[in-house]
Amino acid sequence: MFVRPAPAADGTTHVPVGGVEDLHGADGTDDQGRNRDIRCRYAATMDAQIPPTGRPHDQILREMDALANAEASWEDGRTWSLVYHAGDVHTTFLKAAHGLFFSENALNPMAFPALRRFEAEVVRMTASMLNGDAQVAGTMTSGGTESLLVAVKTYRDWAQATKGISEPEMVLPVTAHAAFDKAAAYFGVRQVRVPLGDDLRADPEAMEAAITPNTILIVGSAPDYPFGQVDPIEELASIAAEHGVGMHVDACLGGFLVPWAERLGVPVGVWDFRLPGVTSMSADVHKYGFGAKGASTVLYRTPQLRRFQFHVTSDWPGGIYASPSMAGTRPGGPIAAAWATMQAIGQDGYLAMTGQILDTSRRLIDGIEEVGGLEILGNPKLSVFAFRGVDVDTYAVGDALETRGWHVDRQIKPASLHFMVTPAHAGVVERFLHDLGDAVDDVRAHPELASTGQAAMYGMMTTLPDDGTLDEIVLQTLDGLYSL
Ligand SMILES: *Cc1c(COP(=O)(O)O)cnc(C)c1O
Repeated sequence: MFVRPAPAADGTTHVPVGGVEDLHGADGTDDQGRNRDIRCRYAATMDAQIPPTGRPHDQILREMDALANAEASWEDGRTWSLVYHAGDVHTTFLKAAHGLFFSENALNPMAFPALRRFEAEVVRMTASMLNGDAQVAGTMTSGGTESLLVAVKTYRDWAQATKGISEPEMVLPVTAHAAFDKAAAYFGVRQVRVPLGDDLRADPEAMEAAITPNTILIVGSAPDYPFGQVDPIEELASIAAEHGVGMHVDACLGGFLVPWAERLGVPVGVWDFRLPGVTSMSADVHKYGFGAKGASTVLYRTPQLRRFQFHVTSDWPGGIYASPSMAGTRPGGPIAAAWATMQAIGQDGYLAMTGQILDTSRRLIDGIEEVGGLEILGNPKLSVFAFRGVDVDTYAVGDALETRGWHVDRQIKPASLHFMVTPAHAGVVERFLHDLGDAVDDVRAHPELASTGQAAMYGMMTTLPDDGTLDEIVLQTLDGLYSL
């Protein structure tokens, strides 16, 4: 959950202008003692106009540099989501690769043969990493969400063309990414969300029971975002094959991690194109591939299936318009940087980074279990996990961590704190566990912390009826974020 409306003293929801409270503690400070002054600099103004005369570059860059330096300190491993950092040297390299193709536009690959080659090779390298054969075909997209959107659109059009299904449905575990919800809303596909098994993974039997003649697609995640577990993909893929429906494995998060984890002996089962029932996959280069943001891949078992992703307009006065994905103009930078990151890191690099990430995750999970009073949800074996308080208020622990300079993500079903481990966290394990122990002691000594700060607001949100009240609150927050 990234949206954090702040509760006001009168109990109404107040919307932080520019989202500063999102990045800093509720009191406006963070661990570096950066203070409220920063908030003024973030405040967008209604008076904003294009300046009547252009300003000097160095002045603008100085202003922006100050703003960037005041952002959440993700380089020090203080945040647990949103930024995947593989070190300053790598970042500098990515910027250089990105910059070389900064102005190119992959909307027309024929105009930019280098981009065409990069995209085709990124798709090929990813397919090969995911054990796809030579038939596997795909495209790059701007991110995991776009990959999932186009996959759902592809299956909708495939099912319409090949089976005449006009009221399509997809069956997915409740943990499947929210982008599927978005796809359902955008493309008129009915989604059937199925409860999890006791292990908090997809329940194949229940999913099979939800399949109808209108089902076009079932979904599994590798791993899922909320709890970081790989769904029972083998069972799901056999069910899909048996019923003749599509099966998408959402490896947006794990596509560039699970292959190496598997080689390192983590028991994840067979989870990719080795299973004949798996007809498509998505893997984000901008997550554990450590590419620049704006880079994901979507892969299909065959080019015939991919065909349903493409869009062609051939009777437009503007010319014959052929578009592989949702975007029109497609920036060259992320594609170039995706290719560059894979060349630079190499298989040995991904293996070593995954080893380090898994080791850091193991130390964190073991340490959290030793703190006492906390429970890890499910049995996460990779780098993403969530925990909740057993005899302490979960959200109050979250607030107590924020007070100690950690930016944590809250989940609401169930109430839990969510963590995504990257190389930036290797050096902060001891400090985090120490602060977590203190935070839990603090909340034990002061149970009233559960009714203040963000804890109060999140506590309230978990008790709202399922009648759209929470959606309305979040919509108001969005309105506020995009207003002045
Ligand atoms: C991050 C994520 C997505 C969406 O990717 P974006 O790049 O944020 O659009 C989809 N699925 C899973 C499992 C994810 O973790």
